[in-house]
Amino acid sequence: MARTFIEKIAQKMRIIPDLDRAHSSGSTDELRKYPNPDDWHDHVELDAQEWPKMVERRFSLVPTTCFNCESACGMLAYVDKDTGEVAKFEGNPHHPGSRGRNCAKGPATINQINDTERILYPLKRVGKRGEGKWQRIYWDQALDEISTKIRASLKTGAKDKVVYHVGRPGNEGYVERVLKAWGVDGHNSHTNICSSGARTGYSLWHKHDRPSPDHSNAKVILLTSSHLETGHYFNPHAQRILEGMIDGAKLIVIDPRLSNTASMADHWLPTWPGSETALFLAWARMILERELYDRDFIENWVNWEDWLQADHPDEPKTFERFVELLLEEYAEYTPEFAASECRIPIEQVIEAGEVVANAGSRLSTHVWRSAAIGNLGGWQVARALHLLNVLTGSVGTEGGTSPNSWSKFSPELFDEPEAPDGWNELHFPPEYTLAHYEMSHILPHLIRDGRGEIDVYFTRVFNPVWTYPDGFSWMRMLEGEDSIGCHIALTPTWNETAFFADYVLPMGHASERHDINSYATSAGKWVAFRQPVLREFARREGRDVKFTSEVNPGEVWEEDEFWNELSWRIDDGTMGIREHFMSPYREGEKITIDEYYQYTFERVPGLTEAAAEEGLDALGYMRKHGAFLIEESTYSKHEEEGWPTPSGKQEFYSNTMVEFGYPEHSIPHYRVKSHVHPDNLQGEDEYCLLPNFRLPQHIHSRSANAKWLVEIGHRNPIWIHPKDADKLGVSEGDLLKIETEIGWFVDKVWVTEGIKPGVVGCSHHIGRWRRSQDQGNKFLSNEVQIEDIGGGKQKMRTVSGVSPWESEDPDTNRIWWRDGGVHQNITHAVQPDPISGAHCWLQKVRLSRPSKDEKYGDVEVDTEKSFEYYKRWNEMAKQRETHPRRERRPLWMKRPLSPKMEHWYIED
Ligand code: SF4
Repeated sequence: MARTFIEKIAQKMRIIPDLDRAHSSGSTDELRKYPNPDDWHDHVELDAQEWPKMVERRFSLVPTTCFNCESACGMLAYVDKDTGEVAKFEGNPHHPGSRGRNCAKGPATINQINDTERILYPLKRVGKRGEGKWQRIYWDQALDEISTKIRASLKTGAKDKVVYHVGRPGNEGYVERVLKAWGVDGHNSHTNICSSGARTGYSLWHKHDRPSPDHSNAKVILLTSSHLETGHYFNPHAQRILEGMIDGAKLIVIDPRLSNTASMADHWLPTWPGSETALFLAWARMILERELYDRDFIENWVNWEDWLQADHPDEPKTFERFVELLLEEYAEYTPEFAASECRIPIEQVIEAGEVVANAGSRLSTHVWRSAAIGNLGGWQVARALHLLNVLTGSVGTEGGTSPNSWSKFSPELFDEPEAPDGWNELHFPPEYTLAHYEMSHILPHLIRDGRGEIDVYFTRVFNPVWTYPDGFSWMRMLEGEDSIGCHIALTPTWNETAFFADYVLPMGHASERHDINSYATSAGKWVAFRQPVLREFARREGRDVKFTSEVNPGEVWEEDEFWNELSWRIDDGTMGIREHFMSPYREGEKITIDEYYQYTFERVPGLTEAAAEEGLDALGYMRKHGAFLIEESTYSKHEEEGWPTPSGKQEFYSNTMVEFGYPEHSIPHYRVKSHVHPDNLQGEDEYCLLPNFRLPQHIHSRSANAKWLVEIGHRNPIWIHPKDADKLGVSEGDLLKIETEIGWFVDKVWVTEGIKPGVVGCSHHIGRWRRSQDQGNKFLSNEVQIEDIGGGKQKMRTVSGVSPWESEDPDTNRIWWRDGGVHQNITHAVQPDPISGAHCWLQKVRLSRPSKDEKYGDVEVDTEKSFEYYKRWNEMAKQRETHPRRERRPLWMKRPLSPKMEHWYIED
């Protein structure tokens, strides 16, 4: 290619690279394409740091997956062949979910693995729990001591006293298998502070408890909130929303806050929190009135006749009569009613409603966290949203919304132990009959209420002291050695919960562990391999590695090997545990990690054949490419599989709700007013605090040590509308005291029209802390002092903000920010929805100017009040506790780890 005169001069002066210079991959005058996987072990590129010198560096590119949010995007680790270290992470173009792209959190994995404060060795506490004194121990000691405690617990016959509590999951059944091998009903999750509201709503329709929107092919993209698209499935969904919009799709975002996604929308509807159901039912009525429904889909796949039979037995069982009766049933859901409940103009209700009503089979919808996890009755938001898909016939269609399980690969494991022979009532208390899933956020209160205790408690990449509401109750529970016999924190990095552990065991980050991933990020089905990249690099270099800890930094283990080793040691030869950890390939010998994955990948449909084309086996293929597309598209599976509900259809009418004591919820309705509905607030003096949104560059607990991410976002001010700011007499940067039901905190304000009047917002991903005796996360944590001020009251005060420090990373001494934000979750009372079990995150708050001695970052909480407040919410569930046929919960509903069937029944 001929160069212009200017280009030639610029090349000569080295202002731009030598465009004609042949580089090592052989390309001459074109921009180089992505390196071919066959060259991934021998990739050469120029060192950007050395510019303008032309210094070549040699890399081995090893695929793995990101561990920073659930969606497990593909990454390529650039392993420097000379130093043997990871130099950077970029996207893996062979990953069908992320297609070569990452959000900011993916490449920031390099910060996490190079964090100078990370935990490198097993630690055991010395002194009292929470005192901050630690002793380095060897893995052997940790494994021996912990396995002895577990063995002692199992030998009592208890099935509910060894518990694994997971924060960030992502290993597709590995630990569930381990718990089954131990025979315990010991799986706990974070689901009910996250997705259980929406899951309940979806589950009532079709058992599948999550949606998978096909944004790329949609005509209308309807998002209730932005959380998923800006924070969780950020990258895979964001790129597909953009694709859809480029092809002409309209984007509608419903959110009281102008999120990044809302700012890109064609229609932003800032509804009052909890009113979304009213809006969707008004739109449902518009669809019915205009006869824009998909008669064929409804007639064949929805149990509308069951509703007629139950509520209108004397009416003719015709489809026409069903529509007429439904219009009568929904007569109250007029656009005027929706506008009034949502506090938005009626024109907006009608205008956006017209767009939805005319979407036909290409309506992709989603609700994640946000309204569904914010409000009392939030589950009905998901149920009403899915009704729009049902009416438009956009369930399972191209451009529509499918059940997520259609796109999720479920691995076949080499050994399936029996289901546990017991039921853990600390996880599924009998009064929460429909909870999705474990009632984890009320665990400290259940224990305080004398409803059980735990012998051995694993927290795994899980930080409830900080991420959950009512953190002081968690501290109190964890400090009590009578209620929690032994607490083991499995974590790659320090967190507020690990401060209260007996053992802190260092686990690997994304590039230091094995996992199988598969998520419904699009309309296809894929499987991906999170692999420890230095182990794969060593293998490529011909070195034999037995355990991943041999190549990980310090003595960082990977969990899979930890569980295998621990399980082996628990069994004294009489317990039948070891038999579940035997090689499927070598008779009578312990399984290796490679064998585990080999077995699973050999059973992925089509993978062995694809591997053979490259002269590889299935494991070899996954090591090389990191991901495999199992199905291009997964539409319309109900035509072969039907729906796994009691009626075998989409359940417009739920007999389950009737049987379990909630007959008023037999069909989608707006029967529950949120606890933050204007009728439940005390006039204009009370506000709704919206805490459940994230800054897109942060995850809950593990981004505080990612310096690039922290530099972008490190504060969580109170979003307040100018009208409310005027009313309160505050302006930008002023302090505000926010009083919740159980305490208060002091934060600065950000005056913005990006939040609805009457609502204040505060992201709950900032405000990390450590006490003087604690370590870690100094990029983002304030040093605080915690004081027991009597009567159950606890006070937290910031001693100092963020400051630079000397370390082997020069960047730690270049920190320019001083503000680490404010911990607000700890002032929130638990508010368990009596139906879904979800924590209702939104808080009723009073706002005022703080007094002179109340400073920025101050927090105070009354733990006695929080216990009493919990009991009031708990009472709502108890009042409706109903067990038809003695069933603890509907037999058809999911549990992540299901015990034997006989335990699904309440004993007489
Ligand atoms: S969206 Fe971002 S954080 Fe989530 S897996 Fe992908 S790269 Fe990682």
